[in-house]
Amino acid sequence: MRIVITGGAGFLGSHLCDRLLGMGHHVLCLDNLITGSVDNISHLMGHERFRFVKHDVTEYIFIGEPIDAVMHFASPASPRDYLEFPIQTLKVGALGTHKTLGLARAKRCRFLLASTSETYGDPLVNPQPETYWGNVNPIGLRGVYDEAKRFAEAMVMAYHRYHGIDTRIVRIFNTYGPRMRPHDGRVVSNFITQALRGEPLTVYGTGEQTRSFCYVDDEIEGIVRLLFAAGSEEIHHPVNIGNPQEVKVIEIARRIIELTQSGSPVVHKKLPEDDPKVRRPDIARAVGLLGWKPTVGLEEGLQRTVAHFRRSLGSPATLE
Ligand code: NAD
Ligand code: UDP
Repeated sequence: MRIVITGGAGFLGSHLCDRLLGMGHHVLCLDNLITGSVDNISHLMGHERFRFVKHDVTEYIFIGEPIDAVMHFASPASPRDYLEFPIQTLKVGALGTHKTLGLARAKRCRFLLASTSETYGDPLVNPQPETYWGNVNPIGLRGVYDEAKRFAEAMVMAYHRYHGIDTRIVRIFNTYGPRMRPHDGRVVSNFITQALRGEPLTVYGTGEQTRSFCYVDDEIEGIVRLLFAAGSEEIHHPVNIGNPQEVKVIEIARRIIELTQSGSPVVHKKLPEDDPKVRRPDIARAVGLLGWKPTVGLEEGLQRTVAHFRRSLGSPATLE
């Protein structure tokens, strides 16, 4: 298949490029590098089935050749990034989704949207099944990301219903692993970087809030299965892909200190506005539709991620 991946130079997008090339597909990666980097795909440059085009997907996308699938992953994703780029985040979720759906319609091909657990906002139900409509503050600081993705989901369903496009929506829960940027502001990358440098680990609030962390290989496996799955109308509805092992943020800090054998202390900082108190995926739909469930436990995933950070923090190019 010929597959377009927007945001292909980012953390998840670059792993997706690797995976799909490994399966024998052709990949065209579109990215404007706002939060991504060519470092993530430099090993693919020169690959005969891979092409990278620097392009902002909120602008018209012209592709001459036939395409079999569009995977829309472009969007700032870390809270730090979408707070820094609020308008770009709204635009890529809204205009970027419109443009990429337009491309899928023109090519009569499959479309997959990278959505997020943030569509559930600060959830009043735990774990979150896909049928939960969420609890989002539309005008809060995080609203730029949450509402852009909720709009994107609505747009995808409209293209499916009114234009008959074969669409998929994956609601991705917190994912971690190699190629996260040391300074992307997300909790796992922050804590590992701080622990390895002997700096205090910055726990926001009490650290009693929970998240459920999925190792990147598991996440990519679930997404790829969803792209290729055939099935009833249900396949077009959102599917949660994440690891249901729920942990407190303070617990993550303790585990990372232990794993890195760091002497770093923990310091508490102000909890950001609208920071969700709990988050855990109900993955019954993914299990039933895709036969998917995560296989990498938190301990093993963190070990692999720490090993990656040890290597990359040693390289001056990655230090900011
Ligand atoms: P990332 O920031 O590493 O990657 C996003 C990529 O999109 C970057 O390479 C960036 O340059 C590119 N991009 C942004 N705006 C663009 C535009 N207008 N045109 C072209 N390219 C653009 O983030 P990530 O963690 O890899 O996230 C990828 C996708 O997965 C996002 O859509 C995000 O919302 C979703 N997601 C990720 C997570 C996670 O835990 N990583 C969780 C939920 C959802
Ligand atoms: N967090 C923290 N310290 C950090 C970074 C994040 O305590 O240095 C907390 C944050 O407040 C949230 C959780 O860790 O409760 C996950 O944050 P992240 O930015 O990774 O993703 P989110 O799930 O909030 O989008």
